Amino acid sequence: MGAATSYIAPVPTNDPVEPLPSYLPSPTGKRHPLRVTPPAERSLRDGHPWLFDTSILEGPDAPEPGDLGIVFDRKKRFLAVGLIDPASPIRLRVLHHGSPCRIDADWFAQRIAESSARRDPLRAPGAKTDGFRLVNGESDGLPGLVVDRYARTLVIKLYSAAWIPYLRGILQALATAQPHERLVLRMNRSMRKDPIPLHGLSDGQILVGSPLDGPVLFQEHGLVFEAEPVTGQKTGFFLDQRENRRKVGGLAKGRHVLNVFSYTGGFTVHAAAGGARSVTSIDLSKPAIEAVERNLDLNRHLASVARCPHRGLAVDAFQALETMAQEGRRFGLVILDPPMFAQSAAQAPPALRAYARLTRLGLSVLQPGGTLVQASCSNRVDAQAFFDCVIDAAAQAGRPLENIETTDHAMDHPIGFADGQYLKCLFAIA
Ligand code: SAH
Repeated sequence: MGAATSYIAPVPTNDPVEPLPSYLPSPTGKRHPLRVTPPAERSLRDGHPWLFDTSILEGPDAPEPGDLGIVFDRKKRFLAVGLIDPASPIRLRVLHHGSPCRIDADWFAQRIAESSARRDPLRAPGAKTDGFRLVNGESDGLPGLVVDRYARTLVIKLYSAAWIPYLRGILQALATAQPHERLVLRMNRSMRKDPIPLHGLSDGQILVGSPLDGPVLFQEHGLVFEAEPVTGQKTGFFLDQRENRRKVGGLAKGRHVLNVFSYTGGFTVHAAAGGARSVTSIDLSKPAIEAVERNLDLNRHLASVARCPHRGLAVDAFQALETMAQEGRRFGLVILDPPMFAQSAAQAPPALRAYARLTRLGLSVLQPGGTLVQASCSNRVDAQAFFDCVIDAAAQAGRPLENIETTDHAMDHPIGFADGQYLKCLFAIA
C-alpha cells in the first residue's frame, strides 16, 4: 500500500453493467386495497412511513412480499401506497403519501437518483471521502432499504423481503446513478430467520462484480480504512460517525486518547492523525482490535500516525475502565461510543442508567480539564434525555461538564421521521 491518495482510481463511469442474476424475481404487479384504524389514518396523513399489522382493519388474505398495498381512508380517498411484508409487524412500508402515484421502475430510479444527488457535496474533489451512505431507508423515501458506498463497492442492506422483487430495478438504477464495480447484498437478521421468501439470496452474497477475498479500502476525510462489507457490523463500517471522528481528530493534538468501544478504530485513526500523543483502543471483539492495527498501518505514511503509540485491548469496556481508574491511568480525551443499549421503549430507562454509569467510568480516567466524547445510537433513547443523563451523571460525580457541544446526524444519514433519529453525541470539558 502506497500513499493514501494513490489507491483510489477514479470511479469508472462506463463499465458495462453485468448481467443481473437470472433468479431474481420480478414484482408481481399485484395491488391490494387496505383499510386501517383512525389513528393509523392520521399517522399516514402525517407522512409516517410504517403501517403496523395491528392497525389494518381490512386487507388481502395471502399477499406476497413486495405486493403493493394501497391505503384508502374511510371516505375511500387515497392515503398511501407501499410495499407489503406479510412476515413483519411493519406490514406496509410506505413509498408514497397523499396522492395516487405509479410505482414502477422509473419511480425507483428517480428516488435513487435523488438520494445520490443529495450526497454530491460529499463527493466534491476536496472532500477526500468515498465511504458514505447513499440511501438511508425511510429518511430517503425508500423504507427498509439502505445502500452504502465504499469506494468502488456498493453494499445494499435489506430490512424486508418486500424489497427482493424490486432488487433488479434498484441494481439497474444504482448502475446509472452510482457506477460501481461490485455490489454486496446484506440482509437484516430478522429476514434471515425465514429463508423461503429469499429466493436463494443470502446475506453477504456478491450480486455484481468479482468476489471479495478481504476487506475493501476507502477514504474518510483523507484517511484510509478497511471495511468488511460481507461479514462486518452494519454494512462493514460505522459510516454514521464520520463527522464526529473528524471532530475528534481536531481535538486530539498532544493528548493521550482513550477510544472505548473502538470497533475497527475509526476514532483511533482520526485521533492519531490529529497528533495524539498515544491512543488506547478498547473493544470486546478481538478481530475488531486486530483491524484497528491494520487501519493504523494504512495511514502510517502520515508522520503523526507513525509516531503515535497505540495499545489495543480486546476486553470488556466496563471492567477495563474500572481497572484503569484503580491503576491511576488518566487520559486527556475519552471517547465512549457503545452499541445500542435499548431495543425497545421499555429498555430506555435501563439504557439511561448504563449511559450514566459509562459517563462516571469515563470521567474516572479523564484528567481534569480533559474532553469527554460520549455517543448514543439507541433510537429509543431521546436525544435530550441522553444529554441530560450524561450532564447529570457528570455533575453528581463532581465533574460538571463545560463547553458542551452536541451533534446529530451527518448529511448522508438524513432524518426523515421521528424514529429515524438515533445518533447523538456530546462533546464537553470536565
Ligand atoms: N466507535 C466505533 C463503532 C462502535 S460500535 C466506530 O467509530 O467505528 C460498538 C462496539 O462496541 C462494537 O465494536 C462492539 O464489539 C463493542 N462492544 C460491545 N459490547 C462491548 C463491551 N462490553 N466492551 C467492549 N466493547 C464492546
